[in-house]
Amino acid sequence: MLGLMQSQPLLISLLIEFAERHHGSAEIVSRRVEGDLHRYTYKDAAHRSRQVAHALDSLKLGFSDRVATLAWNGYRHLELYYGVSGSGRVLHTINPRLHPDQIAWIANHAEDQVLCFDLSFLPLVQAVHGRCTSIKHYIALCDADKLPADSGIPNLLSYESWMGAQPTDYAWPIFDENTASSMCYTSGTTGNPKAALYSHRSTILHAYAAALPDVMCLSARDAILPVVPMFHVNAWGIPYSAALTGAKLVFPGPAMDGKSIYELIEAEKVTYAAGVPTVWQMLLTHMKPEGLKFSTLKRTVIGGSACPPAMVHAFQDGYGVEVLHAWGMTEMSPLGTLCTLKNKHLALSAQEQMKLRLKQGRAIFGVDMKIVDAAGKELPWDGKTYGELYVKGPWILREYYKGEGGDPLVDGWFPTGDVATIDADGFMQITDRSKDVIKSGGEWISSIDIENIAVAHPAVAMAACIGIAHPKWDERPIIAVVKRPGMNVSREELLKFYEGKTAKWQIPDDVVFVDAIPLGATGKMLKTRLRDLLKDYILPL
Ligand code: ADP
Repeated sequence: MLGLMQSQPLLISLLIEFAERHHGSAEIVSRRVEGDLHRYTYKDAAHRSRQVAHALDSLKLGFSDRVATLAWNGYRHLELYYGVSGSGRVLHTINPRLHPDQIAWIANHAEDQVLCFDLSFLPLVQAVHGRCTSIKHYIALCDADKLPADSGIPNLLSYESWMGAQPTDYAWPIFDENTASSMCYTSGTTGNPKAALYSHRSTILHAYAAALPDVMCLSARDAILPVVPMFHVNAWGIPYSAALTGAKLVFPGPAMDGKSIYELIEAEKVTYAAGVPTVWQMLLTHMKPEGLKFSTLKRTVIGGSACPPAMVHAFQDGYGVEVLHAWGMTEMSPLGTLCTLKNKHLALSAQEQMKLRLKQGRAIFGVDMKIVDAAGKELPWDGKTYGELYVKGPWILREYYKGEGGDPLVDGWFPTGDVATIDADGFMQITDRSKDVIKSGGEWISSIDIENIAVAHPAVAMAACIGIAHPKWDERPIIAVVKRPGMNVSREELLKFYEGKTAKWQIPDDVVFVDAIPLGATGKMLKTRLRDLLKDYILPL
């Protein structure tokens, strides 16, 4: 039929071209591995991304070949985001916190041809390169004069000498928007990791959606600090959404401790930050004793694991920073829900509003969700009934890379492995991961609820709740607790602290004090490892 709109494939190169043309002078500031601050603009980033594309061509890389990175959040990583995907190759961001065996495994599985790495990861690359059989080119993200002389890595190039001499013009190729653009492996706590392969189309749609007011609410007036790593689900899509909106980008590099993050927020007038709860805990722990305040930070999106109520209170009441609680997963690009209130909730008391803010939030347009029982029957949205959360939409995985694990979908829906409730207004709340939920006497106990109460105690720095086998009740919860330095709390005091805050039968049977709780490669508590550590533990009956 005549009169239709233009058809233009949704390609990642469009984002950087747009940012250059319309927000060319907006800044991108990076703390570098070298320790200094690097500062340039979207115009510079666009130029250098095109140089990267030329440099990849010079390596004779084919369409859809994989280019891996082991890198912190920084401007060179951003140039690879655009140069690799924009030229039709697939950016494979590797999580450097994975075990070297796993890194070698996934580099081989992905058939990576090139590995670009920050110099802080040189020892890691030295440890694995002999086992990475597909990688032909190693590129250190540094100037030529910083290139280590006797690295032992064959054909090691410096990024700057590799791409720096290339022309800054490049005709970004036009191809099918369903072409793969980047990939990320799941952490693989059980079995080998599997990869989610994102497409240009899924990435652009996700970038649009993420910027919406009731989602991340990003604009050209923001200065965004993604503390969430660029090696983890594309830093929640921020490198793309920032270019789409023209927001200033502030990259923390390797310095993710509370002091460095605080200083960067203040120095660069950051208005918006994004990260997992463990990072914010470090920031708050740094600020409190020093009586520090934020002068520009307005909002922070917190996700990846449940945001404890004590953290929402600390940000909102202590510092006037709005917390946006988000939920998602690697298989979802990652955004699924964000918690922003509806108009009718504005009249609620502060306490009632807080109850809502602690939920993981409402579905974003582009994500459909439902909860189902064990037989797959859809359950009601009453805020009480819980079931496994299923999702579908254009940025949600259809199949893992290379078809690993078979068909993951159930009637077109992706089962998330999370257990959740959904209320009548569509606010979803995660009760647990299905494998972490504690089954006591036929009832379920949410390990997240039990942890949230413990971390509200002033002497508790971190807490993890796990189920222990019990002869009568199947399982009973216990709580493993890390105390705050210099503070004390006894088992009895902590158990008393639960009284009145949860049903009696949900109060843990015991408290185990530990020096540390094992964290996984994405900073989340690794309950599988904790269970291993406590395998000889005997429940007091
Ligand atoms: P992500 O990058 O979002 O952390 P992962 O794939 O590593 O992605 O982990 C996804 C899982 O993390 C989810 O299935 C869920 O169990 C958990 N998760 C993510 N966000 C939240 C949240 N806000 N609250 C509770 N659990 C969360």
